[in-house]
Amino acid sequence: MPCSQQVAADTGSDMIKYALVCAADHEFEGWFSGSDAFDDQKARGLVECPICGITDVSKQIMAPSVRTSGEKSGRMPSKPNSDSTPTPEDFARMAGKVREHIASTHDYVGDRFADEARSMFYGEQEHRPVWGETTAEEAKSLVEEGVPAAPLPTPFAPKPPVKPKDVN
Ligand SMILES: [Zn+2]
Repeated sequence: MPCSQQVAADTGSDMIKYALVCAADHEFEGWFSGSDAFDDQKARGLVECPICGITDVSKQIMAPSVRTSGEKSGRMPSKPNSDSTPTPEDFARMAGKVREHIASTHDYVGDRFADEARSMFYGEQEHRPVWGETTAEEAKSLVEEGVPAAPLPTPFAPKPPVKPKDVN
């Protein structure tokens, strides 16, 4: 399961706990959806001391703690999606670009990939970008020989241009 969690300010699920103090120095705690929510509720007289009941209440100076678990930041939960986690749509778009790029700039050499990569590496033929298939064993020995070949994750692999006509 992905452990990223969307944080939104006004769902009521992500509250900031404030340590509060009333004019008579009673200390207590209150949950608010943000600093603005506290100010707003205080202005409307909705924040009252549970001990003496007065509404002259202010925040104690301290860092608020955020109840949402799993997030490192204790700061304002204001920007949704500011993390770099790409959405599935982003990923699909990116993968599509990579596929296009490879298909248009790399020669498909099929299962001759290991031979091709190796002979280029050893200067037996001019270097050109290729892609193709190889076995896990071959891939491993290519890496061990220092041949600059990298596995292409499935989403990034173009369709092998074997058929002249493609039903896309
Ligand atoms: Zn009080």
